Amino acid sequence: MKYISTRGSAQALDFEGVTLAGLASDGGLYVPESWPRFTEAEIADMAGLSYVELAVRVMSPFVAGSLTEDELRDLCTRAYGRFSHVAVTPLVQLDQQHQLLELFHGPTLAFKDVALQLLGRLFEHFLQKRDDHLTIVGATSGDTGSAAIDAVAGRERVDIFMLHPRGRVSDVQRRQMTTVRAPNVHNLAIEGSFDDAQAMVKRMFVDQAMTGKYRITAVNSINWARLMAQVVYYFASALQLGAPHRKVAFSVPTGNFGDVFAGYVAAQMGLPVERLIVATNVNDILHRALSTGDYSAGTVTPTAAPSMDIQVSSNFERLLFDLGGRDGAAMAEQMRGFEATKAMQLTNAQREGAAALFSSARVDAEAMARAMSWTYENCGEVLDPHTAIGLHAAREAGVDAAIPVVTLATAHPAKFSDAVERATGVRPALPSRIGDLFERSESFAELPGEYDAVAAYVSQHGTPSA
Ligand SMILES: *Cc1c(COP(=O)(O)O)cnc(C)c1O
Repeated sequence: MKYISTRGSAQALDFEGVTLAGLASDGGLYVPESWPRFTEAEIADMAGLSYVELAVRVMSPFVAGSLTEDELRDLCTRAYGRFSHVAVTPLVQLDQQHQLLELFHGPTLAFKDVALQLLGRLFEHFLQKRDDHLTIVGATSGDTGSAAIDAVAGRERVDIFMLHPRGRVSDVQRRQMTTVRAPNVHNLAIEGSFDDAQAMVKRMFVDQAMTGKYRITAVNSINWARLMAQVVYYFASALQLGAPHRKVAFSVPTGNFGDVFAGYVAAQMGLPVERLIVATNVNDILHRALSTGDYSAGTVTPTAAPSMDIQVSSNFERLLFDLGGRDGAAMAEQMRGFEATKAMQLTNAQREGAAALFSSARVDAEAMARAMSWTYENCGEVLDPHTAIGLHAAREAGVDAAIPVVTLATAHPAKFSDAVERATGVRPALPSRIGDLFERSESFAELPGEYDAVAAYVSQHGTPSA
């Protein structure tokens, strides 16, 4: 399988190349040259497979030429063996129509584990083959940092430097990062805000003194391999509910448009997806784009669902590229306009194409809290704030009663216990496997909010590439 950039001028790469590259050199995002498609009979034949075997079937076309089926199976077996539930992503019924797809049974209690546990192992596999070394640098305000650290801790040929704004992440989130003790894990508590830390990371990616020596990469959802891993659970849940003989709708709490784009990929591959509901909080750029065609960024409003507090959704570019006839030059021009003015208008083809599969909703704090209390009182299920936003949107979407609607449960409620307690009166406990989080010892370096101090730290502790 070859991958091309959404902006048309970067070199096409194979799966190994796009996994290690992350972003394309022309600033675009990699997508498969064409969508692989399963027949109805092939999808029917997937019913009853274990999660790992299903993952091998769904991902095989994407990794062709870079991994054998046995190598892929081995990596999946190890990645999904870290999950605390044998079904990996179990479905829980709420009522006749609505289901929750629990994606939080991984080591750090958010759906990002599903993709990052595999990505960490893909890195190690490809680096071993090339005899090379990778330096991951990231800034986090929440779930990505801990999931990435857990995914690469102790792995050979990878170092991770994760910056967090000192004193500005929750205790659970900080401890999920700083209590992982491995020689290749470096937590840096930076003086300043998340945006300050993020700005330093961006600067390091273009600092030739650093990029000339280290193979520096990001682990956010611009990496194709992450999206690919997320396609699997759309198949897993739809098969449980009767696909391919029955259509299924999905509601997805959305930030960077990665998770819901994986649903779009599943539909292109032949899964009968009735509709994808994009649920946003009050940071509603995607809801405005999908309902009116106006994609314009404002300022971020902090909410109880911080992983959705995003104004620019990187992966939306992948959808616009596909719906706009895969014209890289036109996409590059559209994105140049957006980068200059922080606003753009979707073309008619993009709007109509999106409307055929997507709908959207903006969910405020009050509606989110109502969804949490409704679910607790009527189903005995405790939802985290992100999932509650998805469920509210699902229940309001007016999907035909004969079609099941799956809401993606993206985080364990114990990660956001204050917000959950306010809405339901219940304070969810951390699962026993990480119940000792507050007894574990922490390790992190404290650095001033200066780029030079961070670059010096990485130089001192990093490993140059081959
Ligand atoms: C990252 C995250 C999201 C948003 O997912 P995207 O792929 O960025 O749209 C939603 N909920 C939780 C809990 C997350 O960690």
